[in-house]
Amino acid sequence: MSSFIGSIDQGTTSSRFLIFDSKGTLVTYHQVEFPQYYPNPGWIEHDPTDLLETVYKCIEEALKKFVKMGNAITDIKAIGITNQRETTLVWDKQTGKPLYNAIVWCDVRTHDLVHELTAKSELGVNALKEVCGLPISTYFSAVKLKWLLDNVPAVKEAHEKETILMGNVDTWLIYNLTGGIDGGMFLTDVTNASRTMLMDIKKLQWSEQSLKFFGIKKCALPQIYSSSEKYGDIKITDLAGIPIAGVLGDQQSALVGQKCFRRGEVKNTYGTGCFMLFNTGTDPVISKSGLLTTVGYKFGKEDTVYALEGSIAVAGSAIKWVRDNLCIINETHEINNLAASVKDTGGVYFVTAFSGLFAPYWRDDARGCIVGITQYTNKSHIARATLEAACFQTRAILDAMNSDSGHPLTSLKVDGGMTNSDICMQIQADILRINVDRPAMKETTALGAAMAAGLAVGIWKSLSELDEVNSKDRTTFFS
Ligand code: ADP
Repeated sequence: MSSFIGSIDQGTTSSRFLIFDSKGTLVTYHQVEFPQYYPNPGWIEHDPTDLLETVYKCIEEALKKFVKMGNAITDIKAIGITNQRETTLVWDKQTGKPLYNAIVWCDVRTHDLVHELTAKSELGVNALKEVCGLPISTYFSAVKLKWLLDNVPAVKEAHEKETILMGNVDTWLIYNLTGGIDGGMFLTDVTNASRTMLMDIKKLQWSEQSLKFFGIKKCALPQIYSSSEKYGDIKITDLAGIPIAGVLGDQQSALVGQKCFRRGEVKNTYGTGCFMLFNTGTDPVISKSGLLTTVGYKFGKEDTVYALEGSIAVAGSAIKWVRDNLCIINETHEINNLAASVKDTGGVYFVTAFSGLFAPYWRDDARGCIVGITQYTNKSHIARATLEAACFQTRAILDAMNSDSGHPLTSLKVDGGMTNSDICMQIQADILRINVDRPAMKETTALGAAMAAGLAVGIWKSLSELDEVNSKDRTTFFS
């Protein structure tokens, strides 16, 4: 009898539901985009209901395809969830309804608040770094939660009355899929919790020091589970009765999906933003070069594996900006032919700092600019500079990782939407001067959560059983 695993991948621009077989092969999937809301410059919101409804739609459509292929839904043994991280939601436990839109990870409305919070401690942005591994930044959930408490009366009131539930997208999905106001489970996983600034990354518990710093009550926060264990059965959709058994933030999920299980292994995911994670083993390493310390994954009762992370806020979203705001292409993929029509950018550089600059600079006041324009410059040069922007920022992160680890990397595993671009990956290899290694199946983010779920329910008994998964037909871009 065949066994399958479902994976919900709730990303920044779209939701997906994918079904993998027990060899890790993608059987079928469905994807739906949802609207982005930009109410003010630098503000980015999602409607929490859109996130849920697109997930439900993806489940429905992917299951239709799955059944049409001759499979039975009961052959799906577990569900994994992976999600855009840090994006912050608040809802009321009496109604189950959101109290505000989700504030998206790259939203910079908390710029002034970050400066206020930074002034509270002699350590400045590093006030809580020893506890949570992160600098104070607009990026992380606790800062967004404090903004909500300070600026949205309904949120403040629900927090005072203790009817509020605060969480990231994983928690919102788990709560609703397991019943919502009708007994929904209020849980998160360690990797998502490690992006809030509220979790002590060594103890894997909410930190009293961080909670006090931000003025957040512990009862408003979900219970923290490992990344691979039975969370609870789904109660709604056609997946009812199947357990959620693996949960990971999207970048950690890609780390797992790329099978970076050994210390020193690294992956880089080029989606809306771009995120490089470096497995540092069972010890959290505090970076001296502007990288983040984060939980990589924790499988059940096994030791926690940590990672150093370099986050770039804008990568693929710059291509969307070129499409929607500059209007020099109609479809995202057209950027590649345009970029390939010139041999270089003619001296043009595009700093895509739309949401400030994240690692290794952490400059929330930085903004985008295009420099080096001459009379000679045309749209092809701008297109090529847009691809190069993600590649140059990746180079800065790689240099920081090499300096923190003392062992220069010799190749880079990549995935994410932008890695569909061969020209971008070749530019990347040339800029890094190391080989770039791309898997045939690029949905490694969804695969990671499926692996975590499959391990929890015994589809795979150990990591060594995953050796063959997604290892064939990889492409190498030589430096
Ligand atoms: P996320 O999970 O953050 O929503 P994805 O991994 O789906 O992101 O990647 C989406 C990004 O990939 C988009 O921002 C888009 O610009 C980029 N992208 C998708 N296809 C291509 C392509 N053929 N060439 C270049 N970039 C692409």
